[in-house]
Amino acid sequence: MIDAGFYGSLATSALGGEELSDAVCEQILLDPAIDLLPLLNAAYTVRKEYWGKSVQVHILNNAANGKCPEDCSYCTQGKNSSVDIEEYSMKSADEIMAEARLAYENGAFRYCMVFSGRGPSATRTEELAQLVRDIKATYPIEVCVSAGLLDDPKAAVLAEAGLDRLNHNLNTSEEHYADICTTHTYQDRLNTLKAAKRNGIETCSGLIAGMGEPASDLVEIAKTLRGLDAESIPVNFLLPFEGNDLVEPVGLTPEYCLRVLCMFRFTNPRAEIRIAAGREFHLRSMEVMSLYPANSLFLAGYLNAKGAASNRTYEMISDAGFEIVSEFGAGELVASAEQSAAEHPVEIGGKSVVKDLDDLRPAAR
Ligand code: SF4
Repeated sequence: MIDAGFYGSLATSALGGEELSDAVCEQILLDPAIDLLPLLNAAYTVRKEYWGKSVQVHILNNAANGKCPEDCSYCTQGKNSSVDIEEYSMKSADEIMAEARLAYENGAFRYCMVFSGRGPSATRTEELAQLVRDIKATYPIEVCVSAGLLDDPKAAVLAEAGLDRLNHNLNTSEEHYADICTTHTYQDRLNTLKAAKRNGIETCSGLIAGMGEPASDLVEIAKTLRGLDAESIPVNFLLPFEGNDLVEPVGLTPEYCLRVLCMFRFTNPRAEIRIAAGREFHLRSMEVMSLYPANSLFLAGYLNAKGAASNRTYEMISDAGFEIVSEFGAGELVASAEQSAAEHPVEIGGKSVVKDLDDLRPAAR
């Protein structure tokens, strides 16, 4: 039997800047005596302090897709994956700019450009920097880049261009890292995040739960990200894709996913906690509850996986009384998303669905 004061103490500790012990973090994930509703309420107390009822909406752009020489076992773009995705090298600057406009008009607070591959060359880094300058000069939108491994000189080029955030996920703990990837190391990823920080770029770094890791690994990642002062933490839940090395998610019930989000909120109280890949697939009928610990989500799918129709996501947010951070009103956003859903219906059932070119290159429709 858990004392009612336990839940309040989680919120009080988080708000007071106190780090929860590893044992308490694992208990949040695993102890069935901890009831979900008071746990969510405690996490919401912390979320509300820093983020109110706001929800930041992110839209991903696969600016270069597939053909990656790395072997990340969860990724449809890796060299070992046989998932039939659309592959292309870097989109033209015009196409990326047109998609930035679409993201802005669709209510995105932040535009995330993702480039597959180990990391950018010096020339590619300059190209990325120019894109960042052009987007920021044209639209009032935050820009995030995910481009693989970076060192200090490359981070400095992007920082000088005005990049708001760099995404680079840790994905799993140091101990477990070699089980999911052999072509680069956990330390490589950590070094990239530190280079971004040293150059004054905010960091976005998260995890993928459900890859067979023990709960203690998730606690370790949460605390590493706390130590790095990561501004943004995308919490992914492994999506099953036949053809990847790692196919079957392990242990991801809707309740466990919510516990993971709560644990990240308590350990990283001020961070933008994002419900990332697997939101619809793993949370299922409990999806809306994820807005209580988390304050951010991806709209319109993930890298190569379709997500729910945008109008359904916007409705979920406003039905629960949360507020979308956008220059456009919720009604306007739902109406425009409804039109898009009518033109490009999205079906996601009990399996992962690969994005098609319409999803990946919307400006070319
Ligand atoms: S996660 Fe990134 S580095 Fe790893 S295979 Fe996918 S695109 Fe390549």
